[in-house]
Amino acid sequence: MKKIFELEQHVADLIAAGEVVERPASVVKELVENSIDAGAGVITVEIQAGGMTYIRVTDDGCGIAPEDVKTAFLRHATSKLRGADGLEAIGTLGFRGEALAAIASVSRIELLTREQGVKEGVSLSLEAGSVTDQSPAGCPEGTNIIVRDLFFNTPARLKFMKSDRAESSAVASTVLRCALSRPDVSFRFIRDGKTEYHTPGDSRVDSCIYSLLGREFSAGLIQAESSDEALLVTGFVSSPAAARGNRSYQFFFVNGRPIQSRTLNAALEQAFVNNLPSGRYPSCVLYVTINFGMVDVNVHPSKTEVKFISDKQVFDGVYYAALGAIDNAQRTMHNAQLGDSGATGIRSSAQGALNNSQFGAANGAKSDGSVFKSMSVDEYRNSYGSVAPGAQGSGGRGQGSDGALLPRNTEFRMRNAQLEHEGDEAETSNAQLSPLNSQFSTPSFEFRVIGEALNTYIIVERSGSVWFIDKHAAHERIHFDALRHSDFEPMPQVLITPVICKHGQEDASLLFENTQLLERLGFSVESFGDDAVAVRQIPAEIDISDVEPVLSDICAQLKLGGTPAPAQCDEIYRAVACKAAIKAGKSSNMRELETLTARVLSGEAAQCPHGRPVAYEMSKAMFERTFKRS
Ligand code: ADP
Ligand code: MG
Repeated sequence: MKKIFELEQHVADLIAAGEVVERPASVVKELVENSIDAGAGVITVEIQAGGMTYIRVTDDGCGIAPEDVKTAFLRHATSKLRGADGLEAIGTLGFRGEALAAIASVSRIELLTREQGVKEGVSLSLEAGSVTDQSPAGCPEGTNIIVRDLFFNTPARLKFMKSDRAESSAVASTVLRCALSRPDVSFRFIRDGKTEYHTPGDSRVDSCIYSLLGREFSAGLIQAESSDEALLVTGFVSSPAAARGNRSYQFFFVNGRPIQSRTLNAALEQAFVNNLPSGRYPSCVLYVTINFGMVDVNVHPSKTEVKFISDKQVFDGVYYAALGAIDNAQRTMHNAQLGDSGATGIRSSAQGALNNSQFGAANGAKSDGSVFKSMSVDEYRNSYGSVAPGAQGSGGRGQGSDGALLPRNTEFRMRNAQLEHEGDEAETSNAQLSPLNSQFSTPSFEFRVIGEALNTYIIVERSGSVWFIDKHAAHERIHFDALRHSDFEPMPQVLITPVICKHGQEDASLLFENTQLLERLGFSVESFGDDAVAVRQIPAEIDISDVEPVLSDICAQLKLGGTPAPAQCDEIYRAVACKAAIKAGKSSNMRELETLTARVLSGEAAQCPHGRPVAYEMSKAMFERTFKRS
């Protein structure tokens, strides 16, 4: 057995430094967090050569007293935490008191700092953690810290550094997140002498996002909000049309701290499943405010991950905030299109991006109350979530006959609030949420259905444009939305000869446990031996040949546990809507085509439930360009 020694202090510091100070970006993160904790209103970050040779962070915060400067560089020296009790409710970004010590141990540091309202400041120099100079200094109020030659005394670590370019973009992304986390602080980021970012620090989330991520990104955002007793979610999500090929623009902040969380990524994406095809990802800038006691920030060396006491609570907060935002945006677009009598035309029904006036309604400063209505998580649950099949956490199995499978709340409050606001016009739109073959009143705008191509695409002329509509996708979307609506009334058709489905015992009993859900959809099933069911009644839109496959899809969903209830219902609705929709490749009569077209052009269907576009517009100008007339 080898003998055990206690490590020398500087070796212990180097090991600790390895945890906190991985690369220039982590140094920048720690220094900026210190500036934020110091109450700074203006923070400047400057780097050279990816931060390897030079990092400077300047702030106008509280400064450090001359008698404390040396202490600040000792391990576990902090002004932010006193006893272990404080660890349970951490309100500052820093708390471990090890960042300055760790950074100092692997670099050369120059610090200039002056406390607010104090005459003289102090300068302190350190090399590899040892103080080489301390003297009084004239300097502005606040703190200016320069870190040079990072890892100069740890060649092993130096070898792991990537190119200056890679390090520099890691720093840029760190500064971006820090700046987004605090719209009330003005950030400037200077890279090799050039200003890259400059935020106004005017407390507006929209202007902060605009200055960091640009006009195009901002224009594709919609406002999102949800609240709960212990949780508030505010910010923006991208409209479905502004989705990206990856997750790199999903920004989450928990109590002001930029964090990465699979739970939150999943919650956001789950809200978009009906509006995005697979492989496309929503973006967001969402701020989660949660009681300090409900989150543990002390679980990761660089504090970029947190642990929630209740994952489900934050999942729901983000999920319903995003869901509400999408819903609001779609209704705004829908209403705009209903109000549009034709002259200007709709740009494209697959286009979800909103105008900047809605974006400008950021940060509580709502420009127009009718555009955005926020709902509490509970209100959402009542509206969307009450049709949950079976009990959560028990393998998603049915609950039997307590009525929980049916929408308890027959009002869709959000739409209703909108109805009161808009009167008759919106009432028409609400009525249109019934299935396609019900009565349809002629809309206020004109179009002409030219016909149908390939038995699949409706060709329509309308105000100087030609539209191509995927009839199956459009009908599927409309039917899907109708099914999700709590007012949905099925149109069942009684079968003279019942369809016998032999799905095995497990499926048969699952179907029985969920008869109320099935009835809501328009199915009625009876027992037919141990392992089969007799289907006596089916939704009028579904072909007899589709009954077996659709019930088997429903069973497959009912067998899954774990997913949130609304999402599980959506899968079921999607399966039913797909089978109920008119089929591509089968010809339709003119009346059907016209009804469907009216509903699509009124803005009811932008994407199919799988996120594919439903309609495509060819403007006159596009034709002229194609035929070289212009
Ligand atoms: P922590 O942030 O966890 O307290 P640090 O090692 O990062 O630990 O900083 C040590 C202490 O130095 C802080 O608690 C704070 O009192 C002081 N300090 C560091 N940076 C600044 C700054 N920019 N302005 C004012 N005080 C600072
Ligand atoms: Mg710190």
